[in-house]
Amino acid sequence: MPFDPQTDIERLPTEPGCYLMRDAEGRVIYVGKAANLRARVRQYFGATSDTRYFVRLLDRFLDRIEVLITSNEKEALILENELIKRHQPRFNVELKDDKNFLHLRIDDRVDWPRIDVVRRPRRDGAKYFGPYHSASKIRSTLKLVERHFKLRNCDDLSFKNRSRPCLQYQIKRCPGPCVLPVDRDEYAQQVGEVMLFLQGRRDELARQLEEKMKAAAAEMAYERAARYRDQLQAVRGSLEEQHLVDLRAIDRDVFGLYREGGFLQVVVLLVRSGKLVGSRAFGFDRQGTPDAEVLSTFCNLFYSGGNPVPHEVLMPVEPDGAAALHERLEELRETRVRLKVPQRGSGKRLLEMAQANAEHAFFQARREEAVRDGGLVRLKKKLSLLNMPYRIECYDISLFQGAQPVASRVVFEGGVPKRSGYRHYKIREVEGTDDFAMMREVLLRRLGRGLEEGDLPDLIVVDGGKGQLNVAVAVFEDLRVTGVDVVGLAKSRVLDGGAGPDGAPLRSAERVFLPGVKDPIVLRSHTDELFLMTHLRDEAHRFAITFHRKLRIGRNFVSALDRIPGVGETRRKALLRHFGSLKRLRRATVEQLAEVDGIGVQLARTIHEALAE
Ligand code: SF4
Repeated sequence: MPFDPQTDIERLPTEPGCYLMRDAEGRVIYVGKAANLRARVRQYFGATSDTRYFVRLLDRFLDRIEVLITSNEKEALILENELIKRHQPRFNVELKDDKNFLHLRIDDRVDWPRIDVVRRPRRDGAKYFGPYHSASKIRSTLKLVERHFKLRNCDDLSFKNRSRPCLQYQIKRCPGPCVLPVDRDEYAQQVGEVMLFLQGRRDELARQLEEKMKAAAAEMAYERAARYRDQLQAVRGSLEEQHLVDLRAIDRDVFGLYREGGFLQVVVLLVRSGKLVGSRAFGFDRQGTPDAEVLSTFCNLFYSGGNPVPHEVLMPVEPDGAAALHERLEELRETRVRLKVPQRGSGKRLLEMAQANAEHAFFQARREEAVRDGGLVRLKKKLSLLNMPYRIECYDISLFQGAQPVASRVVFEGGVPKRSGYRHYKIREVEGTDDFAMMREVLLRRLGRGLEEGDLPDLIVVDGGKGQLNVAVAVFEDLRVTGVDVVGLAKSRVLDGGAGPDGAPLRSAERVFLPGVKDPIVLRSHTDELFLMTHLRDEAHRFAITFHRKLRIGRNFVSALDRIPGVGETRRKALLRHFGSLKRLRRATVEQLAEVDGIGVQLARTIHEALAE
């Protein structure tokens, strides 16, 4: 029976805990936490109910509310985090997977620590630095650290099995602790300096290096002094990249929030030793929950997800359940944390900066969306489509090494690729290489299932000219598909005779064939609609080529490893996963081969010898 506020609220407990709102199909649409479950849920209904966006949607979607009681509010906070991750409710703030961000990891408790690049920080006692938003930023940081601070970069297995130092030692990037008698204290000092550098405490590091340089020079240890001088220069050079935003040299995360309608933008400024070292922006749709609640949930997800908790967390308003949140942050950091809503001074200025950044990020995202949406609107008009082409699927048939056919599908939603929708189809029924028959088989399978499941796109694009389009139209007719647009996208052709100013052959414009229309539509150059269609087609080709490459690599692996005793399919796959290409496999040392799951040192030697022949 659907949730009835009149009777059901009174049955809810008054203890702390989490509540799960479900829709008629049992899906969790919202998870919240409360110090008093009944009082919290009551706020959504009754005379004092608000008219927020979120609550209006609840009227439409809410079917029932379940509760989970906890012994205190902090436990509710932890549970809420788990429940949001597990159910990903549509009305909750949800942190997108941070897989695109990289972190550096140093475990300074082990012998001869090294730096690792990892996707996600874990609570394993090691120190994590970052996030780094781009691979190039992380590369340049690592380059500087390797060049001037000389930590080993080999993996543990190689480290243990070396009989002499590697190239890193020859080029003076590592003191060679694998086999040489390196001073442990000196190495530990280097590790400490690298950590200061990565924490952004570069002023402090520069001061330390300067003192050491002077001391070494006074002792006439000129080689050591020169090394400190080089390190100092590198650190000072990197200091120029950082902007001083706060005279108080402490680590702070500053939360800014901007909302308009149902959109919400959150920005976190990362201030380390008074310097702004980075920021993170998160955009959310359909968010009407109050700022205090959003901040509480967001902050909990942000830090529970592995982001390091700094000395101070600054917020524009006091988050819901501030005391429990504070306790949770201290638990994560394992020492004191200040959770503040600054009213004046540098904290207030940083908050204003975070708010301004959130506003900027919001408009930036909207601008990009508007360009994309504008492209969709114009595409609809230009091709006289029935639907706004929000979800577009593009199908392409290609041949692998002239014979093995592969069909691929790429999906765009809202004008951008949606990679989770991409797939390859194995051709099951068509013998030989009949393009049209293969396109027919794939569309029959896709649309047949789509009709059964009520899941059809707005527009289907078949890569090719009239022939491919006619096949698609015939499938639509056979299956009685209606309400879905279909077009054929023909490759531009090289035109007979003539060349452009750059000497390249002249090509025809991109052409789109429509059902029942004799002449193709030509998309004008430099328009959003042309960009969208070519992006779609290029993506389809790229995806097909990637698949062909995988097939080729797989085959090469099979033939190269075929006759090596002890390497069956499972180990072959493990080697392929680990090295990714035959070239890299051939270059691997015995130690590197032995790192692969299921490959012992003896087998690694056999493989190494067999590949060398
Ligand atoms: S010299 Fe030794 S410790 Fe240094 S990177 Fe090479 S193998 Fe590792």
